[in-house]
Amino acid sequence: MSVFFNRVRSQLSRIPIRLSSSTSNSSYFRMSQDLALGANNYELHFGREVVNRVSFLREDPDFVTNAAKHLSTRFIFYENGNPLVNKKTIGTNLVILTNGDNQLQTVEGKDVAGTAKGLLNCPEWSKILDVWTEDNKNQSPESRDDNKPSFLFLGIKDESVGVDFRALKLYDEETYLDHQGRYFGLPYFAVDVTNSPDVSALIKKHVLANLSDAQEEDIIFSHSWKHAMGLNHDESALFSHGKMYFDWLGRNKFCPGCGSKVIAIHAGGKLRCTNEATEANEDSTKYVCPVRNATVSNVSFPRTDAVVITAITNRERTKTLLSMGKRHIHKKMYSCTAGFMEPSETVEVATKREIWEETGVACSDIQILMTQPWPFPGNLMIGCIATVDFNGENEVINLGHDRELADARWFDISDVRDHLNGNTNNALDAEDIQLPSLVSIAHALIRWLVEKTDTKL
Ligand SMILES: [Zn+2]
Repeated sequence: MSVFFNRVRSQLSRIPIRLSSSTSNSSYFRMSQDLALGANNYELHFGREVVNRVSFLREDPDFVTNAAKHLSTRFIFYENGNPLVNKKTIGTNLVILTNGDNQLQTVEGKDVAGTAKGLLNCPEWSKILDVWTEDNKNQSPESRDDNKPSFLFLGIKDESVGVDFRALKLYDEETYLDHQGRYFGLPYFAVDVTNSPDVSALIKKHVLANLSDAQEEDIIFSHSWKHAMGLNHDESALFSHGKMYFDWLGRNKFCPGCGSKVIAIHAGGKLRCTNEATEANEDSTKYVCPVRNATVSNVSFPRTDAVVITAITNRERTKTLLSMGKRHIHKKMYSCTAGFMEPSETVEVATKREIWEETGVACSDIQILMTQPWPFPGNLMIGCIATVDFNGENEVINLGHDRELADARWFDISDVRDHLNGNTNNALDAEDIQLPSLVSIAHALIRWLVEKTDTKL
């Protein structure tokens, strides 16, 4: 949020929420100095750990109720998968509201003030929280009725993600949740108002009334790619977290086993069939619904689709194979090879299969390097490096298997490096070839290859 209130600012100066120094990096991803190391040294768009999910507490309705109603609690909002943003603010677009007045917010390691008046000043909001927390507690079959927003508990911002509570404890107001003296944090929730136009209007009205520089045309649920990709690291991770769940919740209204209505339980983290019918035989009584009857998976869990995405190189690290999908012809964009994993495949096998199917090239030595959530709608990108031993056959490109690609080529890594570094005298610039966007894991993988070769590790 961009608005500062003088009173809050003076408080902020003595109550820092200190985040780790790593959060101040402004680039889209960070690399370790030790390039031989792998995944943990990368931080990609959508991938930052910004809350402790305390997933086990989702099942505790009393905790969820307290967390939802706490003064320090933060809320982000969605409509049809689109986040509520303030178009005018730069770098902190996401609208994050709090229950209480003058609650602190932390964006990219900086303390900023939220709205002077919190959502609990709206009697309607208190009622909405009452209804949802009761529905959540009772696993009410009516919890998804029209004009009820969907809530999702995202987690608590706590010391595990860098919040300094020793400083916050000096504060004289209720600035964070203390759950049983064991878990301390700033609770975060996402709220989907797709089916609740009244709540959507209420939230916008609250923002316009309490953010002094907010204009009606700027406070929107944005479907813009530019906004999703332009969010800062903290916001992009929050956005991705909520979006993946709400996409899943929004698409799953009925039980796959019996067709009955399903409801969200455990603060939005799971879906449960509402069919209570049972049938008895000689030995036992069972639910009619095969999903409810299952001994382990008697609820539905969110879906994440795993995708392997690979930068391909030769043993000498002098070349890389880049390919252009048919839908990227107009941009002339060459990228890494990618494809969905299939059931009962290892990452390594899926990577080899995808590369062979799409390019005809035979590779080996698959290494998993980094991963990235990709919330369009629910992918986990598993970034790998694959090596091809040139022998006159392995490296030969053949696009005739599944015909997904418009082109694939071996490029000299020195040309790719020049292109990335802005030196235009290279094979890519000569043909106006584009590489993937900075926020993508494909870009990070290509960058990794270039840097690794550059440093001769
Ligand atoms: Zn069912």
